[in-house]
Order: sequence, then C-alpha cells, then structure tokens
Amino acid sequence: MFQFKEIIGQEDVKSSLITQVNSGKLHHAHLFLGKMGYGTFQLAMAFVKYIYCQDKQVNDSCGQCANCIKISKLNHIDIHCTVPSFDINNLSKSLLPNYREIIEEKQGLFDLKDWIDFNKEKNAKIRSAECDIILHDMGLSSYEDGYKTQIIWMAESLEKESNKILKILEEPNPQTLFILMAESSDRLLPTILSRCNIHKILPLKDNMVERYLIDIRHHKPSETLTRAIHFAEGDLIEAERYLADEESEFPLELSLINFLRGLINFHERKFDNVNKAIKQAEVLAGQSKSTQKKFLDYFQYFLRQVIMIKITQNSQLNETLLKAAHHFANTLEIDQIEAWSQLIDKYHYAIEGNANVKISFVSLAIESGKIQNRVEFENLVSQFSQ
Ligand SMILES: [Zn+2]
Repeated sequence: MFQFKEIIGQEDVKSSLITQVNSGKLHHAHLFLGKMGYGTFQLAMAFVKYIYCQDKQVNDSCGQCANCIKISKLNHIDIHCTVPSFDINNLSKSLLPNYREIIEEKQGLFDLKDWIDFNKEKNAKIRSAECDIILHDMGLSSYEDGYKTQIIWMAESLEKESNKILKILEEPNPQTLFILMAESSDRLLPTILSRCNIHKILPLKDNMVERYLIDIRHHKPSETLTRAIHFAEGDLIEAERYLADEESEFPLELSLINFLRGLINFHERKFDNVNKAIKQAEVLAGQSKSTQKKFLDYFQYFLRQVIMIKITQNSQLNETLLKAAHHFANTLEIDQIEAWSQLIDKYHYAIEGNANVKISFVSLAIESGKIQNRVEFENLVSQFSQ
C-alpha cells in the first residue's frame, strides 16, 4: 500500500511531489488539501513512503525495503500520526490500531464520517492535549537515521488548537517533516496555511471514477452506475456511497413524512413538534451526503406537488404524503411555498459546501416552521426588502 502507481489519476500532483523529493529541497511542512475521495490521503502517504524509501525508483517507492514495509503497516518509529479522537482518554496513540484497520479495510479511501462510523462514535476532533504530544514528539530527535515525521489527518479538526503548533511549524527542528491533510481550508487558520507547501488535490474526471468503480470495485456498468458517477463529482468515496445507498434503500418517503409531521403546527411552538423535526434532522445528519441530497430533492418534489394541488387539486403523491400535502396546500400561500423551496435550495448548497449537516437540517426545520406562520413570514419578507 501507499505507492503512487496504485493511485487513480492525479498525475500532475504525483509528478510535482516526486520532483520535490528528488530535488533534495524538501519543504518541511506540507498540506494536502482536497476531499479524501479524490485520493488525498493516498497521495500524502505515497509521498511519505517515497521520502523514506531506501531504494527509490525514478517515479515511485520500491515497496520492498524495510522502510517501505514499516510505512505500509504505519509502524515506523519516526512517523507519528495524529487523528481526530472521540474522548480525552483515548487519543491518537491508542486509536492507532483502529486507524491501521480502517486503512486496510478501505484501502486508504475513507473520510471523517467513515472514521466516526468505524469507531461507532458521533463526533471527533483533535484535542489540545494532542498538540502537547505533537510538540513533545517533534522536539525529540529521530531514532533512525533520517526524518522525523508528524502526520495530521483531517487537520481542520484542530480548529483553534492549531495555534499551539504554529511555532514548531515555523521553526521546526532540522530533519523534521509535517504532513497535514485537510478536506477544506475554511476551518484552517491562515497562519497555518501560510506555513505550508500546499498541494491542492482536485476532483477526479468522470472516466477515472468509472474506471475505479468497474476495474477495481467490480461494479457492472449500469444506469445506476452512470448516475453514481455523475453524482459523485470526482469523489470516489461519494460514488461508492451512492451505490451502497441504492442497495440499502434509505426510506425517503418515511423520512419526509416524519420531518413534515414535526413541521405541521411547528409555528405554534409545540415542544413535541419541534422535538420531532429536530429528531428527524438528526437522523438525516447521520446519512451519507448523497442520501441527504436525495432527501432534499424529494422534498422539492413534494413542494411542487403541493403547488399542483393548490392549482389543479391533483397530484401524483401516495396516500400518506397526500394528507400532508393537502394540509400545506390549505394553510400556505404560493409565495410561502416558493420561499420554502428556496430555503431547501439554500441548504442543498450548504451541504454541498461541507457545512455542518446537523445544524443545517435543524435550521431548515426551524426556518421552514417560520415560513408557515404568515405573520412571521411577512416580517421576514419586509426585512429582506428593506
Ligand atoms: Zn522502499
């Protein structure tokens, strides 16, 4: 594992990394920036392996020397790994066996959601105590002859704690390397960004995603596969998730019904209703991004049917959803339904952009509730038009 030749596409990044190693002028801090589904983790690890390889080939590590073997098992004494953890008593060092396991299971293609699910947890972050360990580890000299390396996976989980490691990033000890990986730069401090050599990892082309799904994951060409490729937008993890969702059939209809049940009379501030909508928002937050987007698409479809009912009294909805649709058709004006539809678009966009999904769905519930109250809705409209 962790060789350039195994990574799909990303030829430009590969060759720039290889050139940098061979030039002998290695920058001491690197940030690999891009979705894990683009191959970000794999590229970073192949880079580390190439640096340490004792029998470097022209454009890849040998895969067989002692260092290559140790790095494949994430078991090199001079390479430290920091990953988001779940509680203060189990930091990266004790999570390492799980980390090795998920790498093996997912062949290096996994993201934070996979990591959290793998550990059957809910939230993960890189804690302040972890930064103290980084400072300690990176302050020591290397055991073997060569570099001492600190890998920080999902560096955006550091948030403000990253202040602690700024100094060591700026004035590192000789022969030390920092390899940071992040999916988005939004939550990284500018001071961190400015100290790193940034390798931007771009989405893969559709034909690359197709090659991966068919040649490596052994999916058969089909209409669903084509949709998955289109949906994934260059992200191998999302493409696989889409296909898995198709098989698991997340109950979109039931999920929408539960969400709507919470919203009916939401504006009356009945605690029970508010609670129902928030509970369903939590269920949705736990789904894959593709399922979340499908849910919002389905919601839009439902609203179009509500408008149909208002205008023609007809709709294509089945009985359960029809009842809810009639309720909204009777209580809402067209402008309110349109505002609702725009709201869904807004959250569709937010989820796409890696917003906090749970907060997004809860806000969607609350704002949808507000739109239903005519007086509150009109206040909102007049605020915007001022
Ligand atoms: Zn080697």
